[in-house]
Amino acid sequence: MSISEQIQKYQRAVSPATLVAVSKTKPNSAIEEAYAAGQRIFGENRVQELVDKHEALPKDIQWHLIGHLQRNKVKYIAPFVSLIHAVDSVRLLDEIQKEALKNQRKISVLLQMHIAQESEKYGFSEEELLSFLDEKNLEEDYPNIVFQGMMGMATFTDDEHQIKQEFGSLKFLFDRVRSGFFGDDSAFKTLSMGMSGDYSIALSCGSTMVRIGSAIFGAR
Ligand SMILES: *Cc1c(COP(=O)(O)O)cnc(C)c1O
Repeated sequence: MSISEQIQKYQRAVSPATLVAVSKTKPNSAIEEAYAAGQRIFGENRVQELVDKHEALPKDIQWHLIGHLQRNKVKYIAPFVSLIHAVDSVRLLDEIQKEALKNQRKISVLLQMHIAQESEKYGFSEEELLSFLDEKNLEEDYPNIVFQGMMGMATFTDDEHQIKQEFGSLKFLFDRVRSGFFGDDSAFKTLSMGMSGDYSIALSCGSTMVRIGSAIFGAR
C-alpha cells in the first residue's frame, strides 16, 4: 500500500482518536505524500530533524515532539512546536515555561509516565507526578504551559496481557489526575498511548492519540 492509502486506513482505524504520523528518519517527500492525503499532525523525536522539516514543509503542519527532550534544546522548537509529548521532569517543564514566555506563546505538553518494565524508558512515576501536582500551583507557576494530558509507552513485548495492564493502569491514573487536579472542562483531555505494534490495545484501553510510524511509512 502507498503512504496515502496507509494514512487513510489509519485515520479511519483509530478514529475518533487522533493520529500522529511518526515521520522520524523519513524524507520530506514521504511527509508530502501523507500531507496530500490529508494528514496534518506529524511526530518527530529529534530536535534538529524537527527544525529542518518545519522549515522545509507546509506551515499548517502541526509538529509534535514525541521523544525524549533535552533541556538545552527546548529553545529551538519553542517558537513553533504544537505539542511536546514526553515531558518527564520538573526541570524540563521549567525550561519549557521559560522558553514559551520568551516566545510569548503557550506551549501544550503531555506528562510522560513511566509504565514499562524497561528501565531505560523515561517518565514520571505515579508518586513523583502526584507530589508535583500537590506542591505546585500550575496556573501561577506555569502560565505559558497548557497541560493537555499524559503519555506513556508500554514494554516492548509480545505479551498482550502485560501491554493491556500497563495501558490500563495509565488510563486509570489519567482519569484520577484529570478529575483530581484539572477538571472536565480543562484542556487536560489527551491520553497519548499506542504505536504501530500496540495501537489497537491502546485504543481499547482508552487512548485518545496514537503515534504510528513504521506501519504507515515502512520500516526504519
Ligand atoms: C518511533 C516512535 C513511535 C512510532 O513507532 P512505530 O513503531 O514506528 O509506530 C511512537 N512513539 C515514540 C515515542 C517513538 O519514538
